Amino acid sequence: MKKYLLLILFYCISQIGVACNISSSIFVNIERNDKRSNESLFFIRTTIEQHVQLQNIKSDSLTLVLENFHPLGAIIPAYTFPQLQVFEKISQNADYQKINFSFDGTTIIFPTSNENFNIKIVYENYALSFAQHVEAFYLFDYRYDSESWFFTHPNMQIQAVNISVSDDFYFFSNLPETIHNNTFQLNTEVLSDNNISFVVLLKEYYEKMSFSNELNKFDIYFSKEYGISEDSTRFLPIDKSIYWMEENLQTIKTAAIKINKFIPDISRNICIIDGELNTEGMAWGMSISPVAKKDYLILIDVSFWKNKTIVHEMLHCYFPFVPQKEDSAFYLLGESMIEFLAISLSNDTKKAEKIFKENLKNSKRKGYGKVSIFDITDNRMDATTQKGSSVVIYQKTPALIHKFAKKNGGVDKFLGSLSIFYQQVQATEKISFQEFENVLKFQGISGKQWDRFVKKL
Ligand SMILES: [Zn+2]
Repeated sequence: MKKYLLLILFYCISQIGVACNISSSIFVNIERNDKRSNESLFFIRTTIEQHVQLQNIKSDSLTLVLENFHPLGAIIPAYTFPQLQVFEKISQNADYQKINFSFDGTTIIFPTSNENFNIKIVYENYALSFAQHVEAFYLFDYRYDSESWFFTHPNMQIQAVNISVSDDFYFFSNLPETIHNNTFQLNTEVLSDNNISFVVLLKEYYEKMSFSNELNKFDIYFSKEYGISEDSTRFLPIDKSIYWMEENLQTIKTAAIKINKFIPDISRNICIIDGELNTEGMAWGMSISPVAKKDYLILIDVSFWKNKTIVHEMLHCYFPFVPQKEDSAFYLLGESMIEFLAISLSNDTKKAEKIFKENLKNSKRKGYGKVSIFDITDNRMDATTQKGSSVVIYQKTPALIHKFAKKNGGVDKFLGSLSIFYQQVQATEKISFQEFENVLKFQGISGKQWDRFVKKL
């Protein structure tokens, strides 16, 4: 990570004084990879053409970089971007001609023959993240923040992104889009930080189920082939009955009603996609908040249906605002409070109490009794020892919040205060620990009670 920052810094400095104008259009073609061979592990074939137009180039070469890259991408450039080629078009009417370039896995450099010219970079992209999982789940996830799939320059503006997808796939992107003959034209006007990400699913392996009410629309893509074993430890190819999916659909329906009761009038369109998101023994899920504020995408590990962890991810979609990463309340308000809500809303009082109690006991047993949430700087769990900062974030702290609620007026009253807090967050689009304190005190929590709570956390 550090090396990468240095590279970018040096790169920016070296570009100062070079006034140039660069615009880019990206054309992506996604098709089924029926002839899967040794060099392609994937069920899809993604070919990309990035067109770059340059004006007023004063230097005799141009450098473009991949902003984020998979560590392996830098070691084996040929693996992530095989058969990369660069072509130049000297004038409007001329044909593209192949030109020489150098590429080290993150940086591409090629000569510029005159002040204004057009080039085209052509490549296939073999993303690596899901290499181990695609066989089972037929889900492909390109996320810009973890793996760049196009080249950038500080002076570059991305003007157009067209993604052609064959009928075999479902396609989701984080940008608003219009569709023309299987081509998704992404609206790049709303683009910040070059963040264009997308997910594709091979249709035949997914069962789509939908439901909506006055406020919400859910599309759920259940993996048809794979499920989780009874003890949640193994993935098994099981014959998933409609009943299994209906039951999970019911979990979503019930949770949506409870969430809307907790905080009225928030409306959402949410896609939920099954995956085998189990890396190094730890299952994970995530919600992706796109630019269009109402639309969210949740990718979850299939095991999330079993323990209703899905409700936690749903809540992230309803309450997407989190403090800055440097804020000491980042994990408390961004994760622990969400987990407290998830457990409280998806279980009856007795069951919720039991879960919180067990979690608190568990976190103490693992040695986290004295670790404060305000001192946590990462979110980790070791798969073998089941220890790590995640224990404080998801087990200890939600249990302490519950304990505080029970002691000071009861859980229902606390949920009422929390609802007021989240309505404020929703209205101001800002979340802060100070505001949380203000709301609780306004709702009758005394200074003494508050201080004791903060000390316990
Ligand atoms: Zn979370």
